[in-house]
Amino acid sequence: MDKTTHPSRRSGPTRHIFITGGVVSSLGKGITCSSIARLLKNMGYSVRIQKLDPYLNVDPGTMNPFQHGEVFVTEDGAETDLDLGHYERYLNQPCSRHATYTSGRIYLSVIQKEREGKYNGGTVQVVPHITNEIKDAIRSIVAPEVDVVLHEIGGTVGDIEGLPFMEAVRQYASEVGRENAVFIHLAYIPYIKAAGEIKTKPAQHSVQKLREIGIIPDFLICRSEKPLNKDVRDKLALFCMVAPHAVIELCDVPTSIYEVPQVLLKQDLHTHIAKRLGLPEHECDMRAWDLMVRHIRNPKDTVTIGLIGKYINHQDAYKSVTESIDHAAYAHLVKANIVRLESETLEKEGWEEKLKGLDGIVVPGGFGKRGFEGKLNAIRWCRENNLPYLGLCLGMQAACIEFARDVLKLERANSTEMDEKTPNPIITVMESQKEIVELGKLGGTMRLGSFTCTLTKKTSKTSKCYGGADTVRERHRHRYEFNNAYRAPFEAAGMLFTGLYIPDPAQPEKSLVELIELKDHPFFVATQAHPEFRSSPVEPHPLFKGLVGAAYKHKTKGADSESATAAS
Ligand code: GLN
Repeated sequence: MDKTTHPSRRSGPTRHIFITGGVVSSLGKGITCSSIARLLKNMGYSVRIQKLDPYLNVDPGTMNPFQHGEVFVTEDGAETDLDLGHYERYLNQPCSRHATYTSGRIYLSVIQKEREGKYNGGTVQVVPHITNEIKDAIRSIVAPEVDVVLHEIGGTVGDIEGLPFMEAVRQYASEVGRENAVFIHLAYIPYIKAAGEIKTKPAQHSVQKLREIGIIPDFLICRSEKPLNKDVRDKLALFCMVAPHAVIELCDVPTSIYEVPQVLLKQDLHTHIAKRLGLPEHECDMRAWDLMVRHIRNPKDTVTIGLIGKYINHQDAYKSVTESIDHAAYAHLVKANIVRLESETLEKEGWEEKLKGLDGIVVPGGFGKRGFEGKLNAIRWCRENNLPYLGLCLGMQAACIEFARDVLKLERANSTEMDEKTPNPIITVMESQKEIVELGKLGGTMRLGSFTCTLTKKTSKTSKCYGGADTVRERHRHRYEFNNAYRAPFEAAGMLFTGLYIPDPAQPEKSLVELIELKDHPFFVATQAHPEFRSSPVEPHPLFKGLVGAAYKHKTKGADSESATAAS
């Protein structure tokens, strides 16, 4: 990831951009926010993004992916909203735990302070105590080298639980000076088919609602199904109290979400923001970004990757995984056709049929028994049919269990997560996690964040993927690990342990298996980590690149042999 911070190009203090949403949710506020941030970064500014989420969970770590999509994990081990994934992918730079605050986290801190007597016996109230805590959260991401921070406020204007955040950002903007703070409101502009008209009234109302709170937006980004004509723009500018150039149109992009920065750039949003914030104007260097988008738009071929999991019907449950597959495909100049398969359906007779036609398979992270045997079936299929496989976290654990059952003939091999009484516990709870599991302390207690992994086999495919590096750092979120007692029989049967976490070289029994690979297979690689949290469209992750490359080779080799047969 791109960790270089540009030399500061600003004069004066860190500037702030607050992004609110109106009319309806799911307008793509996270993507819009990330796109603006990318444009500012491409102008040479040092940029950060922060999400302020009004819901009451302390973090999404214990939320069901059906409800909330994937849990994104930061380098420093915070379990966060998936929008942080967009921030990292667009900016190609890591976020910290200060990049995300929920109402739950804010309230928890205030209540803890109250219990510790830190308010000197005063009455603790939403204003000023909660709002002050929110302002501290905003300050926590400001640093001398940061030119601009974008703060995305979750939810929609008018939500009851969002009010303290709105009040806090209003106060904060006055405190830093309105010349240093910009408000951007993202609103939905519906098209009413029967009337054949675009309607601005919902957007007007949501801006009115903002004004009630004391916030007047500087820019209005219109998520619209149809282009806005001049009349509509003028009307919006007049009633929403923004300059005509500050009405920005954002229709659905044709090919990829990575086209959004270009749409905003065309309307000069970046220069208007820079001017409004008194930032010296710099050219926005889009060369690398434009090239990446060109690759997305012009794939030379397709590759079909199966994604096998429990939450397949939720669009966002495996967001970083599907994004990483896409990124890797762009790098190979192909388009990934991702086939989502519900793992439980791979437990029923005829499951093999569902896997035919796939060029590669990914089994992502997961928890619990449901659908686990289906994942094992898919993995066996890959192993036996030389089909490229990439396992992520549970996907590595499952690959080890499948190998133990089918190759080592340990038929009841399992993870103690799935079967506490298994005679062959290939995967067991980590020593450090035992007490946590017994006490049932959920939430922020797994092995979380980045750890250094030593790559142990220089000639392996894993090592080749990672460019021959000695060590790599990947992010984690798990409680279970490979049981080292089984290392020797696995190795004897052709499994390579290509990456280890070595906390103390003098105590090898404390090492954790982080990467495995099948010796005689075109590409069968699995990791205990979550490499999907480190991929960006401009810098795809090497393991995903390895998988997609191998999958494409598998596809074209198949085509070659078909045409050879046809010719003979
Ligand atoms: N359930 C497994 C564990 O806790 C895998 C977790 C994951 O895939 N994120 O170790």
